[in-house]
Amino acid sequence: MNSPDTLAWLHPGRVARLEAALARRILVIDGAMGTMIQRHELQESDYRGQRFSEGFDALFAADGHAHGPGCGCEAHDQRGNNDLLTLTRPGLIRDIHAAYLAAGADLVETNTFNSTAISLADYHLQHLVRELNREGAKLARAACDAAEARTPDQPRFVIGVLGPTSRTASLSPDVNRPGFRATSFDELAAAYREAAAGLIEGGADAIMVETIFDTLNAKAALFAIDDAFAAAGGRLPVLISGTITDASGRTLSGQTAEAFWYSLRHARPLSVGLNCALGARDLRAHIDVLARVADVNISTHPNAGLPNAFGGYDETPEDMARDLREFAEAGLLNLVGGCCGTTPEHIAAIAEAVRGLPPRVPPRLEAAA
Ligand SMILES: [Zn+2]
Ligand SMILES: [Zn+2]
Repeated sequence: MNSPDTLAWLHPGRVARLEAALARRILVIDGAMGTMIQRHELQESDYRGQRFSEGFDALFAADGHAHGPGCGCEAHDQRGNNDLLTLTRPGLIRDIHAAYLAAGADLVETNTFNSTAISLADYHLQHLVRELNREGAKLARAACDAAEARTPDQPRFVIGVLGPTSRTASLSPDVNRPGFRATSFDELAAAYREAAAGLIEGGADAIMVETIFDTLNAKAALFAIDDAFAAAGGRLPVLISGTITDASGRTLSGQTAEAFWYSLRHARPLSVGLNCALGARDLRAHIDVLARVADVNISTHPNAGLPNAFGGYDETPEDMARDLREFAEAGLLNLVGGCCGTTPEHIAAIAEAVRGLPPRVPPRLEAAA
């Protein structure tokens, strides 16, 4: 495939506005989608809607098969398939985007965290990858356009999200078979290629490879994104966000924040950062390292603390705003937002806390080699 470096921006005007905004201030990313969906206590029938009411896609069948009474197709539970709500409850997803934009978010993330063939296989809906990513990006785009029309001096951007999938390419899930892998680079790349194509088609302004716990998975995603850009004949800014999964300060595949950056910097992303897993305070030291070594923008979107005994999150908007304001005062931030457990109230408090504080100026580093 072509090197994406030779490709022009797909939406040069949008990129110029994004870069101008980043140079001027700390930009705010939205908060959790799942936390907001949970508040609605949706049932199986809500997830299925009309189209999936039988537990499979009424609009899709294998060649020669016609769905009908007694057609023999197996029903699969869809409760918890949050990305499917983009198709079955689009108003609900658009309202969540709108709530974050009203709270002050400059960028919203698409409802596509699990919209890869690997993750959708859990629900027997692998054929929906392209559609879910395209429609997810369109919904976010529509919400951003509406917000931007109200506040023309504050451009709003759609981040097309690629999640990590539930599989790791560099580790075995089976302690008795260390050589076993539940997925491969090629399988992941194919899955991400299709997802990225949908996000581009739906009008995403940027693509974020998010919640990276395995750097090899991320490499597959970045490789696939380049392919998707080549196929689209243009590129979008790419954002990279890893996750530190334990007290040793490493990703699941064993890297420190510094090693993580050096493994992925060849992709020349618009930003690198960390999200999820930990609260802001526990991310502080790792963001500090990234801010020193990375010559690109830094992003941070932590959870609202560590999960409590009930799987909930306890940090209040005030807690997070106080902690993240200190990050900003220390000159560590270009993009800030929230992950699991955060709500529009959290994002409003964070936006208020960093308002007027200058964005970090990425260091100009000597070329290493
Ligand atoms: Zn059937
Ligand atoms: Zn999270």
